[in-house]
Amino acid sequence: MPSQLTRLDDATVAKIAAGEVISRPARVVSELIDNALDAGASRIDIAVDGDGTERIRVEDDGHGLSRGDAELAVQRHTTSKLPADADASLTAVSTLGFRGEALAAICDCAIVEIVTNDGDAVGTELRAADGEVTVTDTARGQGTTVTVTDLFADRPARRESLASAAAEFSRISDLVADYALAHPDVGFSLRHDGTKTFSTPGGGLRDALLGVYDADIARNATVVERATDIDIEDGTGSFDLRGILTYPSVTRSTREHVRISVAGRPVSDSGLRQAVIDGYGSLLPGDQFPIAAVDIEPPTGAVDPNVHPAKQRVGLRYRDALEAAVEDAVSEALSTADARRAEAAAT
Ligand code: ADP
Ligand code: MG
Repeated sequence: MPSQLTRLDDATVAKIAAGEVISRPARVVSELIDNALDAGASRIDIAVDGDGTERIRVEDDGHGLSRGDAELAVQRHTTSKLPADADASLTAVSTLGFRGEALAAICDCAIVEIVTNDGDAVGTELRAADGEVTVTDTARGQGTTVTVTDLFADRPARRESLASAAAEFSRISDLVADYALAHPDVGFSLRHDGTKTFSTPGGGLRDALLGVYDADIARNATVVERATDIDIEDGTGSFDLRGILTYPSVTRSTREHVRISVAGRPVSDSGLRQAVIDGYGSLLPGDQFPIAAVDIEPPTGAVDPNVHPAKQRVGLRYRDALEAAVEDAVSEALSTADARRAEAAAT
């Protein structure tokens, strides 16, 4: 019997890999936001049509790309984010991206238009469709706009595996809220089918909470900022926590409103989320959860950034110590806030 095995050609291998990175529209949004943040944006405006397969547009005012770099950026394994030192360990990477595969992967399953300017007199418009790249001059101020259309057009199975437009958009909206709260100093806005969903001004945590939720919730919340020393392999390391917590009087019936990010990257990490909830102790009514956004910056070397991009649970060393420190910080922040409120009520 002749061999039944054939070797996949490079284009097919690339498509399969792209499908793993870009599993659904929300993944496109998170990769594009990562890139905008890495580019130092102070404003990020996001627009989504339908379930996101129709159109996703992310516009930033970051450092932009030169024409040559824009052409390189859509190719596989091209990144500007790895330290020049070839021996540099990946644990030293401080950007959200570094694999250089997101844009290439998106190009493999959609039509991508990039309009960008790195401060030059003339900007660049690049269009990548069906493996063909065309580049022209265009007018644009500094920054980058990436528009992704026809996502999964040639992948009926992937399209069918998506949930309803409302459910896909709700994932996107939740994700953008995660980013807006993890990066309160950056202004975010989200539009769906032309209508504003929410926006944040880039003015800190309380304003971000107000943008994502409402003024009443923002008023009933306390900001926590704390550095703790924890024991690590060779001595002690500093562990920084920054977040906003609603008072126990403002709750929700699901734990999804407890948002965790690690070094600015939103993660769905049940252990860290539980540590925040545990910090409330017996203050929460039964079956109720707070609204909270907590960003943690673990000591260098404690996070393994080299986990699969689609996997949100972080590889954390010293997890027990970190979770204990999170619980402590939350508990202490709430009792201080409580004391302050009692004092204010008494005077
Ligand atoms: P990575 O982010 O892992 O480097 P990407 O494929 O996401 O890989 O992006 C490739 C490169 O394109 C980035 O390293 C960066 O230099 C450039 N780039 C992508 N998006 C932007 C943006 N919004 N602003 C500036 N540069 C960008
Ligand atoms: Mg990236």
